[in-house]
Amino acid sequence: MTDMTAALLKEFGTSFALTRLARPRPGPGEALIRVRAAGLCGTDLKVAGGKMRPGLALPAVIGHEIAGEVVSTSDGALPPGTRVACHPYLTCGRCASCARGNTNTCAHIALVGLDRQGGLAEYLAVPETSLIPFAEHTSFAAAAVSMDAVATTWHALHGRGRLKAGERVIVIGAGGLGLNGVQIAAGAGAKVAVVDRNPHRREVALADGADRVVAFDDTASLREWSAEGADLILEATGSRAGFDTAVSLLADGGRVVCCGYTPGLKFGMDSTGLAGRELSVVGSRGSTFADAAAALAAVDRGDVRPRIDSEYRLDQVDDAFARLGSRQALGRVVIVL
Ligand SMILES: [Zn+2]
Ligand SMILES: [Zn+2]
Repeated sequence: MTDMTAALLKEFGTSFALTRLARPRPGPGEALIRVRAAGLCGTDLKVAGGKMRPGLALPAVIGHEIAGEVVSTSDGALPPGTRVACHPYLTCGRCASCARGNTNTCAHIALVGLDRQGGLAEYLAVPETSLIPFAEHTSFAAAAVSMDAVATTWHALHGRGRLKAGERVIVIGAGGLGLNGVQIAAGAGAKVAVVDRNPHRREVALADGADRVVAFDDTASLREWSAEGADLILEATGSRAGFDTAVSLLADGGRVVCCGYTPGLKFGMDSTGLAGRELSVVGSRGSTFADAAAALAAVDRGDVRPRIDSEYRLDQVDDAFARLGSRQALGRVVIVL
């Protein structure tokens, strides 16, 4: 048996087709992985809808939050059956960003599940340097979403946000990233509030460690929680309303880290406030391998328990995308194989 089942994206905006394909053949320095879980995120929705990478060659196997078991490696360093997550960003190691250690903005970055075959298939070949082993007690689904939903938030809060214990942190948007942000910030000793339009998400955020949750039309009440505003805000909605809300809730000298985005959408803010109050607006993109390893270690320790909204089989991938597109998900939607 040298073939496998894969969910193929054949045309943008349409359903996936379950297809038999040849199993990938690992190249030099690559491992063959039996995929056991693939998380889906907003990026996958944009890609499948043709909104993010319209030039993507179809048919394609997407999916970049991947965990599975090692089938083989080139040097045998990881024995067959080893539980591994795959950090999906493949970097060149030679550009200016890589030289500074900012591999997440590598000039030649390639994403597993976009620039090469992704996780919506039974097998995957990836460079061994992208693999991170994880504990027996961590589920494949949790490990898979750690590679993006947790690692991206880890990078945003710890890397770009310079999160410190005792700070007041507001998370705008308690979706796949934001709910992990609540746990990461609370776990680091911050005081956390959440702004989200969905009452179910607000409830989950409370359970995950937020001490105040509000809707967008009730953010004025956060002044009772912190009269001065927030030291650090994670903007995870990528919407104009989210950004404007974040700016309005910043303390003097506060930082807003934007990890959400919408292609074509422009943000803006009052220049007097930006200069006069010494506000910082920072973008945050993906994660480095070190962020992903730290995030997965936090999951192994139980410090972060990634929220899994629902699990679907590979033959239910259309239902999974419908759930993702409904914007009702409480945490990640995951395909388990
Ligand atoms: Zn993603
Ligand atoms: Zn590079």
